[in-house]
Amino acid sequence: MKSDNHPRLFCDVMLGRLARRLRLLGLDVRYEPGVRGLQAYRRAKADRRLFLTRHQKLKGLPDVLLLESENTDRQLEEVRQVLGIQPEKPRSESQALSRCPVCNEVLKKINRDQARPAVPFYIYQIHNDFRRCPQCQRVFWPGSHVQKMLKQGGK
Ligand SMILES: [Zn+2]
Repeated sequence: MKSDNHPRLFCDVMLGRLARRLRLLGLDVRYEPGVRGLQAYRRAKADRRLFLTRHQKLKGLPDVLLLESENTDRQLEEVRQVLGIQPEKPRSESQALSRCPVCNEVLKKINRDQARPAVPFYIYQIHNDFRRCPQCQRVFWPGSHVQKMLKQGGK
């Protein structure tokens, strides 16, 4: 899966968990907790993004994907079917590391020395592939962190 092949998305306010899950798959997902409903939809339109929502009143508007389920896993499945993507199986861990799940920023590769102050020492010792979010400065690496994020997003 290449994120370039998929539309950019905008998640409505109640879909923050889904937004994080989609970002872990490398998708470009905008999410603004302070903006909801029609206002959020207008922002999505202005930014040329597909708007994901559970608001029934927005049904039928152009570029709106109305999700039926309240369950994040099932929402992910709905999005997968519509967009034709395989969200449960990113091709590799490094692919799941392309975007910050919190900020949606594209992660930047950093070297081990740069990562060292931000990660546990045993992680520093065994990993070479570190990335940092330019927005929140969180540091990510393949493996434990991604797994943990995926688990946290599972409910
Ligand atoms: Zn971030």
